[in-house]
Amino acid sequence: MRFDCLTLFPEMIENVLKLSITGRAVKNNLIEINCVNIRDFALNKHNSVDDEPYGGGGGMIMQAEPIYRAYQSIKEGLTYKPKVIYMSPQGKVFNQELAKSLSEEKHLIFLCGHYEGVDERIIEEIVDMELSIGDYVLTGGEIPAMAVIDSVSRLVPGVLSSEDSYKNESHYSGLLEYPQYTRPLEFLGRKVPDVLLSGHHANIDAWRHKMSLSRTLSKRPDMLDRTELSESDMKYIEEIKKNK
Ligand code: SAM
Repeated sequence: MRFDCLTLFPEMIENVLKLSITGRAVKNNLIEINCVNIRDFALNKHNSVDDEPYGGGGGMIMQAEPIYRAYQSIKEGLTYKPKVIYMSPQGKVFNQELAKSLSEEKHLIFLCGHYEGVDERIIEEIVDMELSIGDYVLTGGEIPAMAVIDSVSRLVPGVLSSEDSYKNESHYSGLLEYPQYTRPLEFLGRKVPDVLLSGHHANIDAWRHKMSLSRTLSKRPDMLDRTELSESDMKYIEEIKKNK
């Protein structure tokens, strides 16, 4: 899978995504991450790519033309149209379901805004989707683009060592993940639950599923309204509510 970022700060993205799991996935040719510096496509000798907003108001706006030229440099020679995503606080709020559906694309281009954002006409011309990482405003689209690239990459086959690594995780199945423990057996007087030491896999799975249900109920009850639950799940949740 290929990711391209249209950005004014390529080092920000390159220096982070070259590390850890995304870095290893790049080395293993499972994903490709390229950054295109919009400034390289500036149309003046000062390499400036922003200007004041028409109609007045504070801040600077990134101009459409350099972004368009940077985009064309990626598109040149491609026989298909990659999906272009503008990272924006006005976009659809990103979640695991969107990560899953984006992981099925072969090529994504992220437009990272800065300052007061980008000229509206570049959004109209090249953008297929606007994505937000939450209802707050950051200074630029680089951190949001990295968050999306990171979460999409780990769903690309082969990036994680096993599919189980993400299938049991919070949000994948609509529930939060159960609590996890590792050595030592006892930490500051707190012991690992006995069932996890029993070696009885069916009991462990059942315990984990119940823990997922109970912690989703306590931490994110809103998620349960959107999750398909079995009859026994619903019974268990009713029991917890009764015993509160
Ligand atoms: N003036 C814009 C507005 O009110 O909608 C906000 C511009 S913001 C300061 C600069 C850039 O940061 C945006 O163009 C966008 O690329 C990025 N950005 C900021 N917050 C974001 C968020 N929550 N999700 C995704 N991108 C965000």
